[in-house]
Amino acid sequence: MSCAPIKDNRNSLLMQASLESKIALVGLNRRELETILSEFSEPSFRGQQLFKWLYRSRVDSFEDMGNIPSVLRKNLEEKYNIHSLKLIHVTGSTGESTRKFLFELQSGEKVESVLMKEGKRITLCVSSQVGCAVDCDFCATSSMGFQKNLSVGEIIDQFLQVSKESISPITNVVFMGMGEPFLNYDRVIAAADLMNDENGIKLGAKRITISTVGITPKINRYADEKHRYKLAISLNGSSQESRLQTMPIAKKYPLDELLAAIDHFSSRSRHPVTLEYVLMAEVTDSKEDAEKLMTLLSKRRCKLNVIPYNEIGGKYKRPEDHVIESFIAALDKASFPVTVRWSKGTDIAAGCGQLAIMESFVNK
Ligand code: SF4
Repeated sequence: MSCAPIKDNRNSLLMQASLESKIALVGLNRRELETILSEFSEPSFRGQQLFKWLYRSRVDSFEDMGNIPSVLRKNLEEKYNIHSLKLIHVTGSTGESTRKFLFELQSGEKVESVLMKEGKRITLCVSSQVGCAVDCDFCATSSMGFQKNLSVGEIIDQFLQVSKESISPITNVVFMGMGEPFLNYDRVIAAADLMNDENGIKLGAKRITISTVGITPKINRYADEKHRYKLAISLNGSSQESRLQTMPIAKKYPLDELLAAIDHFSSRSRHPVTLEYVLMAEVTDSKEDAEKLMTLLSKRRCKLNVIPYNEIGGKYKRPEDHVIESFIAALDKASFPVTVRWSKGTDIAAGCGQLAIMESFVNK
């Protein structure tokens, strides 16, 4: 056995270990970047320059940061990485303009994002957690259990890396991927703020939607903090009993408490809340459900988004098309707008409620 290869292996392992221990710059705001630059006795305007390189120019290497002095670029590179995620697989959807992106975290876990194209609208669905603790009965992500909250960098890096893979600019972001965004509240808001920052990504606040299953204390906090991002709430039932059937979280945050939180949000926001309603065969799809919804929401400022269920091989089924149509027709006289989301990407398990890391997918 030759000694040389062993030495080479050790060196490369050490190099890999030191790379992994570097901190990612993506996810830091201007003030945090200025703090880092102060370590190198750099003036604060360098923070703004670095911010623009990360979020506006979206560079992948320190070398590309033209107006940053080469000594500083070298110093930064020794201690920091730019990205916090590694893109390891992209799946395109046959016949639909939908693609799914699989990322690996530095700590080894994996998360997914989905890019959807509909006319001029290019929407990125981002994950906020690895797995989810909420345990909605119809959702593929819940089968993973909860593993960890994503950092701000791990959330924003999904946007930065997918934006490079997208032919057209991303126009909208929805926090509807893996995880419950309001159980990772501070980081989700910080990531949305970075997406919205006019010196960086500059995505309009109305183009960012945060979707929650109904964590009422956080809905109240969100309302009180007066964030301008759109809010979507998963209703998925026309009564407390019906919600409880598929969403155990309804026990902790019952429907009357959720409706009070929705009213509180409406009193603080100029924008109506969107209520998501997953239509599951013989669970939530009856005409009585439609009538109860009309009563429940008649005096509320809201929109109802009906989502025919995307099957994941479990006990819940998508209603027949004629049942979906009857349900929509029964809502014809609703005092609130009703839309139907014919989910995209179901052939690659990228539809709503279908995100879960499958081993076969990971190993591709
Ligand atoms: S639907 Fe959302 S909140 Fe419910 S288990 Fe799935 S990821 Fe979690």
